[in-house]
Amino acid sequence: MMDERTAVVVGGVLRHEPCDLPTLPSCARGRAALLGDAARAMSPALGQGACQALEDAVTLADRLDGGPVDEALRRYDRLRRPRARQVVRRSARVEAVARWAWPPAVVLRDSVVRLTPSAVASRSMDPVLGWTP
Ligand SMILES: Cc1cc2nc3c(=O)[nH]c(=O)nc-3n(C[C@H](O)[C@H](O)[C@H](O)COP(=O)(O)OP(=O)(O)OC[C@H]3O[C@@H](n4cnc5c(N)ncnc54)[C@H](O)[C@@H]3O)c2cc1C
Repeated sequence: MMDERTAVVVGGVLRHEPCDLPTLPSCARGRAALLGDAARAMSPALGQGACQALEDAVTLADRLDGGPVDEALRRYDRLRRPRARQVVRRSARVEAVARWAWPPAVVLRDSVVRLTPSAVASRSMDPVLGWTP
């Protein structure tokens, strides 16, 4: 159902504002598990939503090793939770800064981004991009 608080029609296009989902206590119950946005939709600021969905899929496939499915899903959830939380928090921080609108803050933010060497910017993303299964 459309959420009237977050959907507006702009020039004939239905626009939904991104919003945070509450943190789920678990992404696995019995023989069912959530992956990707269903598990933890995040702001697109870091460009990590689909990447995290892929990490979920790889991790889940790896846990499904022929043993009991519910145990495999619990292990998947235990493994993914801390990593995904970290990325969600970081994404929320970047989103908050990206939404600054007070002009002096915008000038400061844009200057810092412009003046930060690309090698430093890339290195700061190592914890996000350096995932290995
Ligand atoms: C503006 C924007 C930019 C983004 N940029 C990036 C980026 O650069 N890099 C990145 O990694 N991520 C990015 N993302 C996030 C990324 O798009 C999502 O995290 C990703 O698509 C999540 O994949 P998913 O399979 O979990 O969910 P979805 O892609 O939402 O797939 C769920 C599918 O299930 C279908 N569905 C829903 N309910 C039912 C039902 N009852 N029965 C059958 N089918 C159903 C839906 O139609 C949909 O096709 C961006 C997101 C936005 C909004």
